Amino acid sequence: MNTSAHKPMRRIVIAGGGTAGWMMAALMSKLLGRQLDIKLVESEEIGTVGVGEATIPALHTFHNLLGINEPEFMAATNATFKLGIQFEGWKNIGQDYFHSFGTTGTDHWSAGFQHFWLKGRAEGIARPYTDYNPETVAAHANRFAHLPRNGLNYAYHLDAGRYAKYLRAMSEAHGVQRIEGKIAAVLQDGPDGKAGDITALQMQDGSRIDGELFIDCTGFRSLLLGETLGVGYEDWSHWLPCDRAVAVQTASVREAWPYTRSICHPFGWQWRIPLQHRVGNGLVYSSKLLSDADAPEVLKRNVEGELLIQPRVIKFLPGQRHKVWERNCIAVGLASGFIEPLESTSIHLIQRSAIRLMQLFPAGGIKPADVDEFNQQSQRELEHIRDFIVLHYHANERTDSELWRHVREMQVPATLRHRIELFRESARVFHPSDELFAPNSWIQVMMGQGIQPQGYHPVADLMGPAELTNFLGDIQLKVSRTVAGLPGHQAYVEQLCAPY
Ligand code: FAD
Repeated sequence: MNTSAHKPMRRIVIAGGGTAGWMMAALMSKLLGRQLDIKLVESEEIGTVGVGEATIPALHTFHNLLGINEPEFMAATNATFKLGIQFEGWKNIGQDYFHSFGTTGTDHWSAGFQHFWLKGRAEGIARPYTDYNPETVAAHANRFAHLPRNGLNYAYHLDAGRYAKYLRAMSEAHGVQRIEGKIAAVLQDGPDGKAGDITALQMQDGSRIDGELFIDCTGFRSLLLGETLGVGYEDWSHWLPCDRAVAVQTASVREAWPYTRSICHPFGWQWRIPLQHRVGNGLVYSSKLLSDADAPEVLKRNVEGELLIQPRVIKFLPGQRHKVWERNCIAVGLASGFIEPLESTSIHLIQRSAIRLMQLFPAGGIKPADVDEFNQQSQRELEHIRDFIVLHYHANERTDSELWRHVREMQVPATLRHRIELFRESARVFHPSDELFAPNSWIQVMMGQGIQPQGYHPVADLMGPAELTNFLGDIQLKVSRTVAGLPGHQAYVEQLCAPY
């Protein structure tokens, strides 16, 4: 019997050409292009979700695999640099904090920098935590440059539509065949053409695209994995009550700053993402507190500059598919699940799926152990991110709406509760190797949201006041000198992209 366990996987069909579809196509064709026949189907009429413009530093890994030239990519996608996210009013109205990339201070082998900083704060000799982090200081000074050694840790803000086009050109150069049109039906090899492996996509014009392995990148609809194979969805809205976003683009009215702004509202939060030529804006909200008719008006009142498109409401359900790989179909991107874009993690998850598929590629046939491994890794990764996002909501002191009271009082996942207790009692944060967010991220967000540790590691007491003053002072001086020597962010981007 020629089941998918023994069938060679040579013809790959990617359904959908948003960021997910083209990232998959680009990586697969670059790494395995000569051995595979890759087709990508997309429909201009259906279009893409059109948002998703803030990234995290892990994107460098993806770009290195693709051999991307940074200035060329930035010019093609109107990208700017991103050093972190400014959370405005998240702890309480009028109180802001910064979640930067990179590290803060210098760790000791036995204890993180936060322990020394906490002792310094208790003794009145420490400056604000952020003063020991070069990315935060550079972001607030609106400066950026690549540095030869110990450079700033950065990601990008990019135009999602242009990014898909850029990856499309790269994929087509590596042999990917793009097919324009609407998928009318998904054919299977079970009785009556149902209940078995997927064999082909039936297009609306009557043509048929056959394959052995199918990648579902059809967005929230999840046409292959969800609708056809019937893989269910785990709903996380009891932890993440926002279920809508409204997005709009505006013309730039000031220089692009090198960070994302996340501004808290009574019914959700708003993003501002500065690109070279425009600003991406959006409001993420709970439909129980704000209607879809009112949301665009609220957003329009809270943006600067001329509107370049009309606001568009996007509905979503936070959560994940029970499995992302079922039979001969793997869902990637929005088709696999979605957590709101508070920490810009969705593009990263696409990248992770693409790399994971390359590592577990079923060239000689699909093996159950590979499928289980893929599903378990994907699940762990998303649950870790979910906990981090829930933390931002849960640890708040706002009293201005039902949303903030509800999330403060709700039961959080046990894994998150444990992290919060550990930090509150002893300022400790541990980092299992497969987790995305490192201690510096957890510490900044926990302290930013108002979780104050009651103690610190005793090793910090080995430093007397004079030694601690010098230790903290040296770090802070190095940070401020580094930042003082940097050019303005916008000027640097323009100079870098000028040859392209
Ligand atoms: P889509 O962009 O929806 O693409 C689906 C594709 O499938 C399209 O090409 C469509 O034409 C095709 N298709 C669907 N049905 C058919 C059919 N029947 N026939 C043919 N083709 C079909 N991520 C980040 O990392 N950072 C962010 O800042 C960020 N912000 C976001 C803000 C919001 C409000 C939302 C909703 C998401 C955000 N994301 C963000 C997530 C990010 O937008 C997505 O992960 C990314 O765009 C990938 O989307 P996709 O390719 O899975 O789906």
